[in-house]
Amino acid sequence: MAQNDFRILKVVDSLLLQIKGIEEKIDDEMERISFIESQIISKQKELESCNSILKEIHQNSSQVEKELHEVENEIEKSNSHMLKASSQKEVEALEHEKENLGKKAEDLQETLLNLMEQDELNTTKSKELDEFITGALSSKKDIQQEVDKTTNELSEEIEALQVDWKSDAKNLSDSSKAILKNSLKQFSKSHPFTHLNGNSCKLCGYSLDSTLLRAVEDCKNLEICPGCNRIFIINET
Ligand SMILES: [Zn+2]
Repeated sequence: MAQNDFRILKVVDSLLLQIKGIEEKIDDEMERISFIESQIISKQKELESCNSILKEIHQNSSQVEKELHEVENEIEKSNSHMLKASSQKEVEALEHEKENLGKKAEDLQETLLNLMEQDELNTTKSKELDEFITGALSSKKDIQQEVDKTTNELSEEIEALQVDWKSDAKNLSDSSKAILKNSLKQFSKSHPFTHLNGNSCKLCGYSLDSTLLRAVEDCKNLEICPGCNRIFIINET
């Protein structure tokens, strides 16, 4: 096989690596959007649960208010009974009842105060979450514009590099073309080439025996790594 094929494959290797680098940059850009999206979703969930807590607090408050109102009515009733009481025994019974009702009213008032406190805390929290979400949605819009612009530019760079390596690959011998095509198909999501690191594959660490090592270094034929199936490229050729 011609040395020329190796020269071409070296260029293809480097162009494909450049493309991979740019694709990683695009992924980083996309990551910015998914990061802010996940933040928004988590705050929206928090807001939902905060609002349902508020709803529960409001329901409880009106229930307690109703109960308190009833107890106050009962206290009034027992006051008017007191005025009409005819015996000492009756007065004592009414006083006992009033005392109990008074305690009940105090307890209900305390519960109501606690609920009001919780209401205030959760209302503040809900407002803060709402503000955060509104802000994050607006930043997301700005970031999306930036990301779109950058990824468009990067995609254009990739397209130009694709044209470059494909036109280079046209000059390969038929057998090398077939091997490259096969490798590209197999490693469409990664990279079809590997290099030597001493006498091992740089990518998978496979240790080459002396025969294979010599064949790779001779650069007469395309050699495939038995460990990861990538084509060996020697930088020195
Ligand atoms: Zn390997």
